Amino acid sequence: MEREAMEVDVVIVGAGPSGLSAAIRLAQLGRETGREISVCVLEKGSEVGAHILSGAVLEPRALDELIPDWREKGAPLETRATDDRFLLLTKTGSLRLPTPPQMHNHGNYIVSLGNVCRWLKEQAEELGVQIFEGFAGAEILYDETGRVLGVATGDMGVGRDGKQKDSFAPGYELRARYTLFAEGCRGSLTEGLFERHDLRAGADPQTYAIGIKELWEIDPEKHSRGRVIHTIGWPVDNRTYAGSFLYHLENNQVAVGYVVGLDYRNPYLSPFEEFQRFKTHPAIRATFEGGRRVAYGARALNEGGFQSIPTLVCPGAAIIGCAAGFLNVPKIKGTHNAMKTGMIAAESVAEALADDGGPVLGAYPEKLKRSWVWDELYRVRNIRPAFRWGLWPGLAYSAFDTFVLRGRAPWTLRHRPDHVSLMRAADAPKIDYPKPDGEVSFDRLSSVFISNTNHQEDQPCHLTLKDPEAPISVNLALYDAPEQRYCPAGVYEIVRDGAGNNPRLQINAQNCVHCKTCDIKDPGQNIDWVVPEGGGGPNYPNM
Ligand SMILES: Cc1cc2nc3c(=O)[nH]c(=O)nc-3n(C[C@H](O)[C@H](O)[C@H](O)COP(=O)(O)OP(=O)(O)OC[C@H]3O[C@@H](n4cnc5c(N)ncnc54)[C@H](O)[C@@H]3O)c2cc1C
Ligand code: SF4
Repeated sequence: MEREAMEVDVVIVGAGPSGLSAAIRLAQLGRETGREISVCVLEKGSEVGAHILSGAVLEPRALDELIPDWREKGAPLETRATDDRFLLLTKTGSLRLPTPPQMHNHGNYIVSLGNVCRWLKEQAEELGVQIFEGFAGAEILYDETGRVLGVATGDMGVGRDGKQKDSFAPGYELRARYTLFAEGCRGSLTEGLFERHDLRAGADPQTYAIGIKELWEIDPEKHSRGRVIHTIGWPVDNRTYAGSFLYHLENNQVAVGYVVGLDYRNPYLSPFEEFQRFKTHPAIRATFEGGRRVAYGARALNEGGFQSIPTLVCPGAAIIGCAAGFLNVPKIKGTHNAMKTGMIAAESVAEALADDGGPVLGAYPEKLKRSWVWDELYRVRNIRPAFRWGLWPGLAYSAFDTFVLRGRAPWTLRHRPDHVSLMRAADAPKIDYPKPDGEVSFDRLSSVFISNTNHQEDQPCHLTLKDPEAPISVNLALYDAPEQRYCPAGVYEIVRDGAGNNPRLQINAQNCVHCKTCDIKDPGQNIDWVVPEGGGGPNYPNM
């Protein structure tokens, strides 16, 4: 069936901080130069912000540059970070450590990134940007030379069996002079672009963590607006890179989350259960007792940093924000860099449109290398990989690299892909997680319930298996099916017949919160996450 098509100057895939900043900068430049630039943004969530999950402490540097009068314009940055604490947890105690310099948050704000994106959307729309919410970019359009010509949204109304339902509507083609990929961490179209143009050649593999987050309303007596707490140590062992965040924002709310590096080794580890267990620590539990959990979600984040930055451009397209991977791990911040890379790419696109430039946006990586993003990421590039040696060697090396070498070491530590790190289950210690108490710790299903996740049930499964046998013949046989534990939404279950035989993998795709962990961590890279029907997925209120 023929698809309808629309032509614009620029199409942006993803309405997160990077995509919206690029859109706003393009529209601003169009106004400044008197050459209107038509921009449209696609967002797979039911609305902008619905799929955004972050900490978040926001460094406002890029926002100051993009919209200097953001205060007058009512940006939802209401809570200044005033009090930084960095704790080492042992099983029963806690020790306050000096806060590492990268984690000083003076001048930063504790925000809901979802709400910041909703506000950025309004700013973009006021400047004439078109935003299509509930539409997923499902296919990249190429010409015969491989030049990107835009993207197509997915077909709607296709049944689980692949057949068209009565409600069928074909996807829509958005054709553009330039396409910006702003899908965030592990973008599904971006992965295809990497492959098609070999954009990861010469870069280290990207590495990741999974971040699981809850939003709580707590007893006002225990709330301290502006407090920022990070912890390391318990409940994980010293070989596993993990830590928590607790941010006290407005309205007696606390954003609490736990981040586990996806290079963890023990297939029995469950990031979800580590998070639940973390909240029961004597130094943490009291904050949440008597409070109410209001939201839950999870999302992967990039940890590769400088050495994992891919080639950022190919004919007709550029990659911005966490789709490329600009998160600063020691700072645990990526939003300012995502916004800035979007802005730089926008400036390069505007120049190319004005000069009738060629298809390759070469100015974008050039300008980026001269920007503060590059310098910032270069200086911290060795810190995350040093934690591969364990918590104590990692901390010692980080102090040496930061205070003595000042990020200028004459070496660069390399990365390995996360999916190769799992030990065989037979060699790994089992982990006995406590049962949730229903007060501060919970199970997966009640958690997914408050992520407001919804997918049209009768549609093709968006978690596709390259080899349908591998979940049993490889994952279950060698690793005791780790997807049952790393998925924070209980999507993967090994089910057996009445006699406990004939195991098979059941995929509860409707629960998927789009964190992308399975696409990253599956030991055989057998799971391919593709976009479901637009609008499906979590509906985060203010994460
Ligand atoms: C647990 C956690 C804590 C964090 N804490 C902080 C913090 O405190 N401070 C900080 O600065 N950063 C933090 N970060 C990182 C920060 O959230 C990211 O750097 C930032 O969100 C990246 O912005 P982005 O626009 O590149 O991608 P995203 O924010 O991921 O946005 C991408 C958007 O694109 C949409 N999309 C994806 N694919 C498609 C498609 N095919 N079609 C249509 N739409 C699509 C998504 O739905 C989403 O709305 C944290 C991240 C996590 C996970
Ligand atoms: S199925 Fe994959 S992407 Fe979805 S929630 Fe589970 S791990 Fe995350």
